[in-house]
Amino acid sequence: MQPILSLRDVSYSYHNLKGETPALSHINLQVSEGSFVAVVGPSGCGKSTLLSLISGLLPPEDGEILYRGLSSRDYCADSALKIGYMLQRDHLFEWRTVYQNLILGLELTHNLTKENTDYILKLLNDYGLYSFKDKKPSELSGGMRQRAALIRTMAIRPDLLLLDEPFSALDFQTRLFVSADIANIIRKTGKTALLITHDLSEAITLADRVIVLSKRPASVKREMSILYEISREDPLAIRSTAAYQEYFNQLWEVLTDGKTTV
Ligand code: ADP
Repeated sequence: MQPILSLRDVSYSYHNLKGETPALSHINLQVSEGSFVAVVGPSGCGKSTLLSLISGLLPPEDGEILYRGLSSRDYCADSALKIGYMLQRDHLFEWRTVYQNLILGLELTHNLTKENTDYILKLLNDYGLYSFKDKKPSELSGGMRQRAALIRTMAIRPDLLLLDEPFSALDFQTRLFVSADIANIIRKTGKTALLITHDLSEAITLADRVIVLSKRPASVKREMSILYEISREDPLAIRSTAAYQEYFNQLWEVLTDGKTTV
């Protein structure tokens, strides 16, 4: 399949009064349309920086980022190529109902049209939250809050989804099921998604392809395609397969440079 997103030799360093912090070094990667790609790497290696560059929040210092053939400056200016960003916390405002939270972006950008609000109501229905639309966020479970955050991201009809550790605020058990639930919803939409995580198990359970980054400044250490013979609906069933164990062992070796102790 044709790559929708290409990073060619991309490097980035932060500069401040204390000096320079190199975050990314000669990153090369390609993401094909409709795929679900996970990027794993040690904490502080530069994963969030990578998403900031792809979303156009930061310009690459060296190298080139192409999205649908356009450079980051051009695709960010193209209103048809929207990038949806899901963050570590859901940032739902407690003083607004779920529905009021979901239309906030449309309000702020003066896009509160009937077509757009109908679309949000459709997503609420599709994602099983319609009957909760007039509740406050605190009345929702962790999983429902993540679904609401996903609807808010989908409301702008993004072309590409960037997910920056969106499950990290959830406890382990909730995270296991919510991450599979959200990933399955995204997979059904056919959207291209790039998930940043420090959790190798999560990456292998959810993604079609896993990219392992080195420690800072990050470069690509290994890429691996992930394929299972069973459906991804049940994360526990996936984690019980021999294929999962094999992927985990191979990538763990790469992630830890073969060291078994800390
Ligand atoms: P990760 O997402 O993998 O945890 P980040 O991309 O957030 O890593 O950060 C990579 C490195 O860049 C870290 O060492 C971090 O301290 C540093 N860094 C991140 N943001 C800034 C900034 N605004 N100024 C200076 N250094 C930064």
